[in-house]
Amino acid sequence: MKEKGLLIVLSGPSGVGKGTVRKEIFAQPDTAFEYSISMTTRSPRAGEVNGVDYFFKTREEFEELIRQDKLLEYAEFVGNYYGTPVDYVRETLDRGKDVFLEIEVQGARQVREKFPDGLFIFLVPPSLSELKNRIVTRGTETEDIINNRMSAAKEEIEMMNLYDYVVENDQIDLACERIKSIVVAEHCRRERV
Ligand code: 5GP
Repeated sequence: MKEKGLLIVLSGPSGVGKGTVRKEIFAQPDTAFEYSISMTTRSPRAGEVNGVDYFFKTREEFEELIRQDKLLEYAEFVGNYYGTPVDYVRETLDRGKDVFLEIEVQGARQVREKFPDGLFIFLVPPSLSELKNRIVTRGTETEDIINNRMSAAKEEIEMMNLYDYVVENDQIDLACERIKSIVVAEHCRRERV
């Protein structure tokens, strides 16, 4: 029987550059994964194309998709719905192809429940990882400013625990290389019986 593809989930705090990294990965000719185009109720930005960047939906259409159970996950983010079409993901995985989702953390949590075997990658900005380092290595640090930063980062660091890998986005090309290497390594790991 043909092996199923791998479900790859990339997320991370807003502003970290997930979209940029994803676009760069898919611009590379050797990328073998399929990108799952999301549904959203947000309006298209200049240059965005329906069916390429997103499937743009009205709120009514989106809520109908929710009712019909057509979404693998969905979340409301800054006043708009975003969701992953379940049929596309399942059919592509069944064809033995890897599927790549670029989604925010609430959605990633739902995917983890349905696909515990997925590959979950968390992208962080260099400043957050520096902060994490401080929290880990200087846990007794009492200066107010450090405490404030720690509590601000806490939520996101807790989210990190949901993921299998954390990748620093210090340089876009390096972040892409790391993500692709993780996917290759994951396939090799799954070769074990
Ligand atoms: P933007 O409006 O900037 O394109 O995306 C806003 C956020 O929604 C980003 O964090 C992006 O990763 C996330 N996003 C895009 N598609 C989906 C999706 O299908 N599901 C979820 N949960 N988040 C998504």
